[in-house]
Amino acid sequence: SPAGGTPAAPRVLALANQKGGVGKTTTAINLGTALAAIGETVLVVDLDPQGNASTGLGIERRARNLSTYDVLTGEASMRETVMETGVPQLYVAPSTLDLSGLELEIAAERDRAFRLRSALKALAADSLAPRFTYVLVDCPPSLSLLTVNAMAAADAIVVPLQCEFFALEGLSQLLKTVEQVRVSLNPALTIHGIVLTMYDGRNNLSEQVVQDVRQFMGDKVYETVIPRNVRVSEAPSYGKPVLLYDLKCVGSQAYLRLASEVIQRERAARADAAA
Ligand code: ADP
Ligand code: MG
Repeated sequence: SPAGGTPAAPRVLALANQKGGVGKTTTAINLGTALAAIGETVLVVDLDPQGNASTGLGIERRARNLSTYDVLTGEASMRETVMETGVPQLYVAPSTLDLSGLELEIAAERDRAFRLRSALKALAADSLAPRFTYVLVDCPPSLSLLTVNAMAAADAIVVPLQCEFFALEGLSQLLKTVEQVRVSLNPALTIHGIVLTMYDGRNNLSEQVVQDVRQFMGDKVYETVIPRNVRVSEAPSYGKPVLLYDLKCVGSQAYLRLASEVIQRERAARADAAA
């Protein structure tokens, strides 16, 4: 961090894929938990009106007094909205179904794509807020204004891809959107990495998908592959990340490995930038 003066801004990673059910939310919750477990201070921003990241982090609907909807409409600050979770050093800005109406409400506003970026900037400058080192933005399953807000606010995108036959379908559309955001809204935006999820070792197709995606996307694909693991899918119904629910299961161990890979890539990127 810079000597004295303002604290370093957190790294903002957006979990994006316009397909539903590929592991965005599961990765936001469990990568967030794993990063917190290894010493980072993490904020998960729930940008999906479904609010599954908030629920999975133990925030009941009636406890969501303020939400990302209030933040993006300018009615609340991010600091006021952030809530503690059951995990030390892991916080969440919860969402509610109100968020599904936001796009129409702010469609005519000039700064409509920059609402999240401004809110996170204010958060980083807010001396009363925790000093976050990572912000993970859980995007909805669309390339809507909400996802564009996440991309405009992010340093980099993490793309979860499910190990299934149509894994690569839609990826070129997603990459095109990232490129458009880079050109028009956020020149520094990069793809942090692609995380393969729900890998099933008993299924030849899973292995084929891993090979295809690695061939197509090269070293953008993280080495860590997240296995399909029933403990991972059970944990949210207890309002817990899988790392709290069953630390030893293969799903938890995979998310810990992914977290150290993310941090390694960050260090490498910083070293490159310094050179
Ligand atoms: P998205 O946010 O992209 O829509 P989710 O993270 O909600 O996807 O995951 C979709 C479903 O798959 C959820 O029911 C979740 O519990 C389940 N799931 C995700 N990852 C795993 C995994 N590694 N093993 C088993 N089930 C998983
Ligand atoms: Mg989701």
